[in-house]
Amino acid sequence: MDGKALAARVRAEVAYGVAELGRPVGLATVLVGEDQASALYVRRKQEACEEVGIEPIHHELSGATSEEELLALVGRLNADERVTGILVQLPLPEHMDEGRVIRAIEPIKDVDGFHPVSAGHLLQGEPTFVAATPAGIMELLAAYEIPLEGARAVVVGRSNIVGKPIALLLLAENATVTMCHSRTRDLPGVVREADVVVAAVGRAGMVTREMVKEGATVVDVGINRVSGKVVGDVAEDVREVAGHLTPVPGGVGPMTIASLLRNTVRAGEYQAGRLAFPRG
Ligand code: NDP
Repeated sequence: MDGKALAARVRAEVAYGVAELGRPVGLATVLVGEDQASALYVRRKQEACEEVGIEPIHHELSGATSEEELLALVGRLNADERVTGILVQLPLPEHMDEGRVIRAIEPIKDVDGFHPVSAGHLLQGEPTFVAATPAGIMELLAAYEIPLEGARAVVVGRSNIVGKPIALLLLAENATVTMCHSRTRDLPGVVREADVVVAAVGRAGMVTREMVKEGATVVDVGINRVSGKVVGDVAEDVREVAGHLTPVPGGVGPMTIASLLRNTVRAGEYQAGRLAFPRG
């Protein structure tokens, strides 16, 4: 499944959406500290914004910034009309409480979908901002017409930003969903039953050929650096048995950025009153 090609199509749609909205759209990105990978991700997001007509508004803070200073910046961005969406790049330095920082973002600007209000909307079947990675995965599955209704889906990993939301989205499409994690007994046996496997763990090659049913769809979310190379959570030879597979790189990653852009336009639509944002 070619995430790069689909992401290009999504970006074209987003560019159209921005132009059609008829008001400026800005995405504020906040990077705290000197983490190289985070800096690269933020740069990619800024470049993608420029390409579709979203103004990137970047704030870079030193790793020594206090949580109060960061919260004050988030407060200013909440109040700034130029800022349609706010993204605080994770992970934050150890001395900061990520949950507190995310909760400080106005839910109507929570384009990353990590705020408990956004998570609650998804849980209750009225999604507003769905976290970009799971949203991108669903778009890939739809584009490749992977049947989900009644399908057995196994999600490996239960994080708030990937595992849990993708499980809810698959459930909403009427898949029968099993969530696996580090305490799951007989992981190979569980994964082998899946028509759709989502691997979101962060361990190179942990889903092996022997674990995958012939013809299954395998979504590889993992990003692991092994001897200077980026690889996923799915072993290379899984392609010999999988019906569909997302490559790493070029699968889920590009779709994540494209979905973030989509969410930013959606925020613009809420703020313009074109879409109703559920309150309370
Ligand atoms: P987390 O570290 O938050 O979660 C990892 C999950 O994997 C946990 O739920 C953990 O279980 C589970 N796990 C760990 N070891 C095992 C094991 N041996 N067997 C089964 N489950 C296990 O990671 P994220 O969800 O944030 O990210 C997962 C991966 O996806 C990472 O490689 C990350 O870089 C990548 N990623 C990629 C994105 C993209 O755009 N392509 C976006 C976001 C993430 P437990 O809860 O029990 O500890």
